[in-house]
Amino acid sequence: MTDIETVLALNTITKTYGKTTALKDVSLSIKKGEIVGLLGPNGAGKSTLFQIAAGLFAPDGGSVNVFGMTYQGQAAQILTRLGVVFQARAIDLDMTVIANLRFHAALFGLGGKSAEARIADVAALLEITDLIKKPVRTLSGGNQRRVEVARALLNKPDLLLMDEPTVGLDPVSRQLVVRHIRDVRDRNGTTILWATHLIEELAGADRIIMLRTGEIIQEGTPAELLARAGAATLTDAYIALTGAPEVEATPA
Ligand code: ADP
Ligand code: MG
Repeated sequence: MTDIETVLALNTITKTYGKTTALKDVSLSIKKGEIVGLLGPNGAGKSTLFQIAAGLFAPDGGSVNVFGMTYQGQAAQILTRLGVVFQARAIDLDMTVIANLRFHAALFGLGGKSAEARIADVAALLEITDLIKKPVRTLSGGNQRRVEVARALLNKPDLLLMDEPTVGLDPVSRQLVVRHIRDVRDRNGTTILWATHLIEELAGADRIIMLRTGEIIQEGTPAELLARAGAATLTDAYIALTGAPEVEATPA
């Protein structure tokens, strides 16, 4: 990779599980500071793409480049600069918010005053400062998700990967999480790849990549997709461009 502005590059990625082809020749490239929405129905391959981008496993074919490095060569250097929010909730419900955040800060070698200062920063950014002493279990689903996003920011990641961060949330909580995610990029210049099956969530993304049955079927800015489809809403554009109404619109 020669382009220093490219943060994540997937080159002709293929991944199969037995007879299922989860990803087929997928290539994408994300530039510094971009918010890219990865849109697709269940089973499209979003989580598989995420896990490969996060270095959890290697693709069967193709290559992955993050910050100009590869997981084969420099996994540790990549991981210190990566923030990940998984699709399944991954947070200790019995611990308080701050205990969760301290534990993860420690995993990044942060302790003492520098950890406390960093925790205060991410809590302020996600507006969870008032919740910090509560057990996670007592928080709403939306607030639990905000804690997870805060946690993913403890190491000041240059690249934030989020797999359906709003899944299971009510519309108001979803909007809040979406807004906070945008704040993260606007304030810190973080590059963000964000998977969702809810197209209206991606109105504020810089670019949308549509994935279906393991293949990229459309790609462009929200405005480009609307123009290409001659549609008034992203939902209409998705249906027009793919002929498939299987991505849910965000309920009003
Ligand atoms: P998405 O996140 O878009 O819903 P996934 O990446 O989870 O899509 O799944 C893509 C395809 O791969 C689906 O057909 C799914 O059933 C299959 N798949 C995903 N993970 C596994 C696995 N561990 N074993 C077998 N099949 C899997
Ligand atoms: Mg998934």
